[in-house]
Amino acid sequence: MKVSDEAWCLYEKTNVFLMERSIPIRFRDCPSKEPKIDLAQARKLARRCFRKFSKRPLSFYVNRIEAISGSTHTWTNNKKGNGKTLLVNVHKDWGEFIHDLSHLIQAKNQSRYRRGKAWHCAEHAALEFRIAKTVLEDCP
Ligand SMILES: [Zn+2]
Repeated sequence: MKVSDEAWCLYEKTNVFLMERSIPIRFRDCPSKEPKIDLAQARKLARRCFRKFSKRPLSFYVNRIEAISGSTHTWTNNKKGNGKTLLVNVHKDWGEFIHDLSHLIQAKNQSRYRRGKAWHCAEHAALEFRIAKTVLEDCP
């Protein structure tokens, strides 16, 4: 799907907002060997963002929040016997966390897209910006 000019403008607004605060934006950040995100803080922020921007609290979707590493996105894992878990890639930076979290909330809010699909549009870009503002109110 083609991303509209309106959406690109909103994504750029988020990128500028993050760069002005020295947060690496998505795709300019590589997973590091050392964790960049404090898991306790990410837990708190994920819960806060779900409360503010999702129809349901995060606890409706997951019962655990765990750290992962590598090139994986921050996303939920619903493997049988493992419980529903939010896997936070703590080796990426806050810009990636914000982007992935905005996709996760977008997917949970839109039942027709629930199968793990993420997409880019003006609505998602606006949500990403609002989440970036919320996260950075409480970021180091
Ligand atoms: Zn995306």
